[in-house]
Amino acid sequence: MIYLTSFKKSTGLPTGIGKWSAAVYQPKGFNYPKASCFDIRDFTGRWIRPREFIAEKEPLFMYRRTLLKLYKSRAKKILNWLGNTKGDVALCCWCPYEKAAQLQLEEWGSFVCHLFVVGEYLADYTEELVWYDSDRLHMAVLTQK
Ligand SMILES: [Zn+2]
Repeated sequence: MIYLTSFKKSTGLPTGIGKWSAAVYQPKGFNYPKASCFDIRDFTGRWIRPREFIAEKEPLFMYRRTLLKLYKSRAKKILNWLGNTKGDVALCCWCPYEKAAQLQLEEWGSFVCHLFVVGEYLADYTEELVWYDSDRLHMAVLTQK
């Protein structure tokens, strides 16, 4: 099982769950090993964030597509990472406890998080079960209209 959660809520997870960072940076006080296969920077170092797609006709769709493509290109790396983990693991990001996600929640009632694409990738391309914490209920579904 792969838990998708935030650094903040990861401290409340049952013991025995391996905690990993799926983020570029970690909040103060955290030092989880990094699952670099889920890094949002491509091989040129370009960050794949929703804001890079604002000028597109369908920004969220393009954002999802670009990130999913990146993860597909790392299929081997992702399988290697899964092979090196034992038992249940949690992938952690900042959302929605950082400023950008808080503003999105205020304005839209949802937030855009790369863990949506990570969860989609894991569910579609691996045998893993994916568990979402309660905050993810407010995570924007990037495939909806
Ligand atoms: Zn996030």
